[in-house]
Amino acid sequence: MTVATALASTLGPRDKLPLRRDSSSSVDSDDSSNASETPISYATDPNRPKGEPTPRTTKQKVDRRPPSTFYLKPRSEMTLAEKICNLATCPTSMHELKDESIDRGPVPRQPVLSENWYIVKHALVPLAIHQASHYLLPNLKWPFWFAWPFYIAALMHFALGWVARLNRMCVELGTFDEKNIGRDRTPDKSVKHLAAGITAYMIVRTGFTFYLHYSPDISPLTDFTWTYPLRLAAWQVTLDYFFYCYHRASHEVDTLWFIHMHHHTTKHPTAILAILAEEYQEVLEVFLIPLTATLLIPMSFSEMWMTLCYTLYVEILGHSGVRSFFGHPILTAPLEPLGMGLIVEDHDLHHRFGKSGLNYGKQSRVWDRIFGTCGERIETYGM
Ligand SMILES: [Zn+2]
Repeated sequence: MTVATALASTLGPRDKLPLRRDSSSSVDSDDSSNASETPISYATDPNRPKGEPTPRTTKQKVDRRPPSTFYLKPRSEMTLAEKICNLATCPTSMHELKDESIDRGPVPRQPVLSENWYIVKHALVPLAIHQASHYLLPNLKWPFWFAWPFYIAALMHFALGWVARLNRMCVELGTFDEKNIGRDRTPDKSVKHLAAGITAYMIVRTGFTFYLHYSPDISPLTDFTWTYPLRLAAWQVTLDYFFYCYHRASHEVDTLWFIHMHHHTTKHPTAILAILAEEYQEVLEVFLIPLTATLLIPMSFSEMWMTLCYTLYVEILGHSGVRSFFGHPILTAPLEPLGMGLIVEDHDLHHRFGKSGLNYGKQSRVWDRIFGTCGERIETYGM
């Protein structure tokens, strides 16, 4: 039993909401066998004034994506899993179909330096609190059992802050393909699995970092050396190599595709759907692949913590759909002139085109470029 499976069994009773087909069904499915079911609008908003019509969410006649209604419940009636998923519920406008007459102009570029500052300043806060505790209480070194939950909470706080900021950017800048379809909601049938996956992610990623690197005697803020930026970049490209191999195989080997297709249930994902996957995929992506990169590229505890924050930042960003030329804060600037930088649209197109999606890298297009699997960009074409 995996960590995610064990957690799923503790996060509340099985959902008794209406289910539509199986989780592998495409969000764009137009199967007439579903015609008798009442479609649930992806733009239903409990705060919309009464009498105002519900906006359309897709150009198709009926939105056939899996129902999502849990977010409409009062918080007091939500299960623990629903409360966890509701933390990342997007503004309703992100799910609405945008009118053809809207002209947002060219896709804007996101400045790289300010994004690095955003990550570093937030990642330094728990290290600074830890350091301050050492300074004020020199005889009280943080034991493993205290420090680990503290950093799990810090990583969750970092993720939620980043999701909230990205949602605001999606409302302001728009999302890719928004004139054809709004972003997907979290399907009711995936809530428990997603909540378990998010919890497992936080526990496992911090867990192997603590197991390999933590000592109560560390000095968190001085636990960096000047070569860290280079090792961070090397770690990301190494991680991406192992991810590329597993990910491409998952698309090209039918047996593996039947596992990976769960992640591709969403064709227009949002930040939280980055973690939507079968248990086997989670074990590889959350644990084995980053662990392998960690064993190959040496890091101190604080460097590994910062690396976790960078990685989570990119994984969430890649599934946000924000309409911006927005790439990896470390890798895009040096790699984009070589055609090897990864931006949000690359992974968005990977989801949109499903099994034949190309763009298998998650941190860069280094391996896609070398092995000839880069897909053509659409809205950022020629930028
Ligand atoms: Zn894929």
